[in-house]
Order: sequence, then C-alpha cells, then structure tokens
Amino acid sequence: MVSKRVRQIDVKKINRNRIFRYVNTYAPVSKPDISLELGISLPTVLQNINALIKQGLVTEVGEFQSTGGRKATAIAPIRHAYYALGMDITEEHINLVLTDLSGYVLKHHQVYKPFCNSPEYYREIAEVVLAFKSSEVDSDKAFLGVGISVPGIVDMNNHKVILSHSHHSANIESNRFSEFIPYPCVLINHANAAGFAEMYHDDTCMNAVYLSLDNNVGGAILVKRQSILNHPPFVKKLYQGDHFRAGELGHMTLIPEGEKCYCGKKGCVDVYCSAKTLSKHTHGHLDRFFEEMENGNDTLRVIWERYLMHLAIEINNLRMIFDCSIIIGGYVGSYMQPYMSMLKDKIVMNNRQEDAAFLQSCSYCMKGAALGAALQQIEAFLCTV
Ligand SMILES: [Zn+2]
Repeated sequence: MVSKRVRQIDVKKINRNRIFRYVNTYAPVSKPDISLELGISLPTVLQNINALIKQGLVTEVGEFQSTGGRKATAIAPIRHAYYALGMDITEEHINLVLTDLSGYVLKHHQVYKPFCNSPEYYREIAEVVLAFKSSEVDSDKAFLGVGISVPGIVDMNNHKVILSHSHHSANIESNRFSEFIPYPCVLINHANAAGFAEMYHDDTCMNAVYLSLDNNVGGAILVKRQSILNHPPFVKKLYQGDHFRAGELGHMTLIPEGEKCYCGKKGCVDVYCSAKTLSKHTHGHLDRFFEEMENGNDTLRVIWERYLMHLAIEINNLRMIFDCSIIIGGYVGSYMQPYMSMLKDKIVMNNRQEDAAFLQSCSYCMKGAALGAALQQIEAFLCTV
C-alpha cells in the first residue's frame, strides 16, 4: 500500500509538471485558464506559477483584454532558459540541430563527415559539436546536453549499438559516440528520433507510425502516453519492444520469395522501398532521380510508379496492424509532398474500406532525427520540472 504522504507529494509534482507543460505549449495563458483546463484549483495554480517564476521557467508578459472583470495576467514560458543539441550521424554527414524548451529547430548545421568507427572520427565529431555549442549557447548552466541519433539498434540495457548496416558496424559501445563530448549525452535510434520529432508538437491524443524511407527502411511506433490525467498537452512515447527492435519495418516481407535483402531474407520491404531503390538509377543521387523523372524520363516514371505500388502495400499493412496515423519520412519522404495524392490513390485502390486521410508526409525532413535526439534531453528535463 502506498502511504498517503507519498501520494500527496506525487500529486504536487504532477500538478507542477502539468502546469508548466500547459504554459509551455499554449502560452500566453492566464491563471484562470490553466485552472479551468487542467482542473486544478486556482490557489494551487497561483502557488505553482509563483514557484515556476522563482525557478526562472515562466514569466508574466502583460495582461489579457478584460472580458468584464479584472484583467487577467498573461503567463508565458522562458523557453531560452535551457537548450539542447541534437546530432544525427549518417553514413556521410553529421546533422546538428539546436533547440530550447520550445522544442523547435532554432539552428541547423550540416557537415560532411563520412562515418568511421575510430577514435579520430569520434574526436572530430566532438570538435564540431563543441564549436556549434559554443557559437550558440554561452552558458553551460543553460545547456542540458546532447542527443545523438545513430542508424542502428540502440540497446539501452547493454549500452551498445547492436547493428548498423549503413555504418557497416556492429556492437559498438554506446559511450564511444560521446567519449570526447564533456556534456550529458543520450543515444537514440535514427528512425525513433525522427518519428519522435514529427509527433512532438502534435496536440491530439493519437498514436502514430513513422515510416523512414532512407537508404535503409526503418520506422518508429509512437503511442499516446498512458495517464490517469486525460488533459492536454499529450506527450507521445516510443514503443521499443522487448529487445529495442520494434519498428524494424524494413524487414517485413513484402514479396514472398522476392529479391534478396542484406539481412539474409528474401522480399523485404527494404529491397523495394529504400531510397537506394530509386537513387541507384541516377548514380546514387536521389535529387537527380526526381529531377530527371519530372523532365520526362519515362523509364524513371515507371520505376517510381512501381515504387509507389510497393509502398502502398506496406502502408496498408501498417494501417491494418496499428490503426493509426502514418507519417512518411526519411530521404524519400522529403520529396513525397507533390506525390501524396498519387500514393493515396494506390492505397485506396488496395484498401476499399477507407480513404487515406491517415497518411501524411514529414515536416522536418533531414533535420528530424537530430531534432528528435535533442528532444530526448529536453523531455528528460521537462520530466523533472
Ligand atoms: Zn531484410
């Protein structure tokens, strides 16, 4: 049995947290608004807002127009009170993103740096991170740390990146990536990070699947956080499975006895829906694939039609399993917006029970994974408020 005292402390902490998250999401807001929306008494709201002002996390920013009585004070968060940095390590580049308590991209920086599992490489990426950090954030006190996104299975229990096909590496100790970075670091799988970023500002109580169409196909499953407190803002949680392998959507079988996949199986989604499936026809350049197709290359048009047909089958399968929104991301997702209606037509053709309104293309494109990695530090902080 849990003691009454412990429960009261928990309720106090939960109230403080909900109030800050509400202000951080919907600002400017008034204290009566907070009280009404969250179902917390006005004296408790006042007490918590005063404490948050003392902590330097919220401030008064003027007054709302009067609706009859006294004008209500407008409360807003001090979002630049804390910053975090995200680094997405890809096969050839590192992408860096700076964010603050707003959770939006404040700055993006890309550096050409082919991956190599060597001390020199880890030292070099740390130098890039430190230079980026010191150019943007003066104070170490305001810096929460670095989130690092890698395209492999991140085993949180054993602190290892188990397998990274695109990096041609396996079983790398997690701390190697952060060895030369003198700030708190956290590692996350690339697709999980990108999916987390896409859903971070989603204000509904919905689940989602993120399908990452990079040089390898991956994915992330985001579920609404289970809570007894059914009030906004809702925070999404990653479903990672029992062995951190959930969301390996690239290795679902699409074509029985189909073409061989690098994983050893035949007919995997990865073989038919990765970005390489397209870019191999234009010397590895995905931008040229779309450019040449739009300039009238009929061979590429046929390849694209076939690609969309396979993708539509995968999306319908995911919809059947998860019954939720599906977001198309990764390299191909970044080019998908003009072709969404074509893709939706193919989805509806194979699935006559509903339209494809559940499908959307990504918002952050190449910045998503770095942002999602940085958000791991922001979320960790927000949980402590
Ligand atoms: Zn496979």
